Amino acid sequence: VDVASSPLLRNLNPEQLAAVTAAPEPALILAGAGSGKTRVLTTRIAWLLNTGQVSPGGVMAVTFTNKAAKEMLTRLGTMLPFNVRGMWIGTFHGLCNRFLRAHWKLAHLPQAFQILDASDTTSAVKRVIKAMNLDEERFVPKQVGWFIAGCKEDGQRPGDVEQRDEQTRKLVEIYANYEDQCQREGVVDFAELMLRSYELLRDNQAVREHYQRRFRHILVDEFQDTNKLQYAWLKMFAPPGADSGQSILAVGDDDQSIYAFRGARVGNMADFEREYRVRKVIKLEQNYRSFGHILDAANELISRNTQRLGKTLRTDAGLGDPIRVHEAPSDFAEAQWLIEEIQSLHRGGLERQEIAVLYRSNAQSRVIESALFNSGIPYRVYGGLRFFERAEVKHALAYLRLLENANDDTSFLRVVNFPTRGIGAKTLENLQDAAKASGRSLYQSVGAIPGKGGANLVAFTNLIDSTRNLTQGMTLREIIEQVLETSGLLDFYRTDKDGAERLENLDELINAAEAFVMQEGFGKNAVGLPVDEVAPSVQSTGTPGAVPDAETGEIMSPLVAFLTHASLEAGDNQAQAGQDAVQLMTVHSAKGLEFDAVFITGLEEGLFPHENSMSDHDGLEEERRLMYVAITRARKKLSMSFCQTRMLHGQTRYHIKSRFFDELPEEALKWLTPRNQGFGSGFAREYQQAWQRGSGLKGMVGAGNVQKAAWVEPPIPPSMKQKVSEEHGGLRVGKGVFHTKFGEGVLLTLEGTGADARAQVNFGRHGTKWLALSVAKLTPID
Ligand code: ATP
Ligand code: MG
Repeated sequence: VDVASSPLLRNLNPEQLAAVTAAPEPALILAGAGSGKTRVLTTRIAWLLNTGQVSPGGVMAVTFTNKAAKEMLTRLGTMLPFNVRGMWIGTFHGLCNRFLRAHWKLAHLPQAFQILDASDTTSAVKRVIKAMNLDEERFVPKQVGWFIAGCKEDGQRPGDVEQRDEQTRKLVEIYANYEDQCQREGVVDFAELMLRSYELLRDNQAVREHYQRRFRHILVDEFQDTNKLQYAWLKMFAPPGADSGQSILAVGDDDQSIYAFRGARVGNMADFEREYRVRKVIKLEQNYRSFGHILDAANELISRNTQRLGKTLRTDAGLGDPIRVHEAPSDFAEAQWLIEEIQSLHRGGLERQEIAVLYRSNAQSRVIESALFNSGIPYRVYGGLRFFERAEVKHALAYLRLLENANDDTSFLRVVNFPTRGIGAKTLENLQDAAKASGRSLYQSVGAIPGKGGANLVAFTNLIDSTRNLTQGMTLREIIEQVLETSGLLDFYRTDKDGAERLENLDELINAAEAFVMQEGFGKNAVGLPVDEVAPSVQSTGTPGAVPDAETGEIMSPLVAFLTHASLEAGDNQAQAGQDAVQLMTVHSAKGLEFDAVFITGLEEGLFPHENSMSDHDGLEEERRLMYVAITRARKKLSMSFCQTRMLHGQTRYHIKSRFFDELPEEALKWLTPRNQGFGSGFAREYQQAWQRGSGLKGMVGAGNVQKAAWVEPPIPPSMKQKVSEEHGGLRVGKGVFHTKFGEGVLLTLEGTGADARAQVNFGRHGTKWLALSVAKLTPID
């Protein structure tokens, strides 16, 4: 082949060219972000095909996310003269599914086997536990589900698990029964897709040899994030040490290993090098993606990690623009700043789809989505659903809808058996028939259903009715909190493996309601405070926060208004396919992608690095790799932002900027707001204001980078102290108080005089509330 003249190869550097055109033997590329790993991998496929060294059926390429697989197909599509859709290119699960569809008989599956998602899996496990008459407190279905998945990912069937004690013996028994049940019902869970295809290959020589003959070239992108079973599965297709003339190319970057929490083994890279007797690890050191400042920041940051294989990256692109850093007073202000920046980039000629907004946790997208929505900027959320479309949020909204309108059949069906209440498909079918026959709603028809199922249905409608009674007179926030509790949703997600994120989203729903109430001016009252910060009795209208509609005069409750708002925002605002839209995603789902402009938001201690990972060394290194991934997504423009205050878990929390700012080269940063030492300028300002208001910051607790603000006991200027204590004899800031409804709390602030006197009290579980002292009965304690 005349290498130099091939247009495909013309734009490669010598190292890349060598990798693309390497002889068919095992190879490992270990190189940093943006060095062209994925480009080498796809170009190699195209080159092999174009030069007739392999047919499309002889190639298998695996990558990690659906989006990356799609991206790879698109890149290939532009290099090749034929349709690439039929090629074996996809994610691990996608390819396993394809494999099992082709060999369903050998795999002992029905031809139309169904795949269980995470929640299906849990309910399947639950049924097994029930059938075995076991105590669900001791064998929590979720946890048993993880046990089973963990065994499968270790390649263990029930007979392989070491039965150390009575508990394990029972778990293994459940595992065995669960397998029987799945087999009977013709379903497989995610872990089963991998394990079943692995076993078929392992145990069936003919099939194995067929695929080994078929796939001449196997290429794996993002190899650093493979787990044990995935690596074993790959070895079935291309056994190490075999003299089969197959070529396997693994491509990865240890600095971008970000899935340890799901069993990814970065050690697979070293194992690969040894087991496949890789002669020379290919290193690519030229970065083609990012300008110098961005790359310098990435290099400097990741150099703080101790567990590294060691790589270098350089660029010829010049320094480019410095990284813009913005400190915002609140998460709303941060979102507002984002909007302005995005609009100015777009005016400057950048397509919206070349702009990505990244965040550490899904729940953070809500405030940003809301701001984009309000300013009419089309956006698309990747690697997750838009906020109001997420399952847990929809469940919660369904309960809220039922409070307002129990005859809403859609909402009824959505949650009647979620969390599970022993209401089966058969019962629901009967209920739907009964409702149809009588022309009534499902809710109205529960009485017509006999037996156990009927009794469970009645229990459900009773739950809805009693919650409705219970929430009479509550504020929107309290209603939502109550519903999350009594519906069992909170308990359900508390025991769920992936529940932490779902709980965050439910908290975020409370924040959304708070923000909505303030934005719409619901419940602005005589005292001028938002409704949910005031004792219910302060409000003049019967329904808390109810205000007459300006046009119709109709009094719409905040709940109804909020539900309407939620449906609208969940509606068709999502950018249409092909429409130019800003891209929103978590850092995890941005892996492998690149954009002209990238915003990394929420760079605050506890958020990024995430609080769950801050305390241990390995966790922190993984967070740093995640930050490295985030930074290296940017081609031309990178911005970072953080907030002084953020609504988290339904409360305003005070934040300090991420330690990662101290790990970036100062020359690469351009502070749009004044840079401060220790804690941010915002803090100093807040402190001063708080002092003037009579509440404030006690100080910082902790040391070094793990400082947290302590807002417990405010320093009060003596003059002010006297004034307030004179007026509200006995009430003292920093001391305990008792309220008839919220119980015991700590008094944080006293302000105003006479009829306008207000107190801010932290009631712990009930949150922090503002109370009008003319109405609220506060008694001092101790
Ligand atoms: P990541 O680690 O983030 O997955 P990567 O190593 O896979 O990155 P690629 O996505 O393949 O990197 O390449 C980064 C960018 O650089 C792409 O836009 C690619 O087209 C471009 N690029 C790669 N090699 C060259 C080259 N030799 N000349 C010009 N551009 C290149
Ligand atoms: Mg890549």
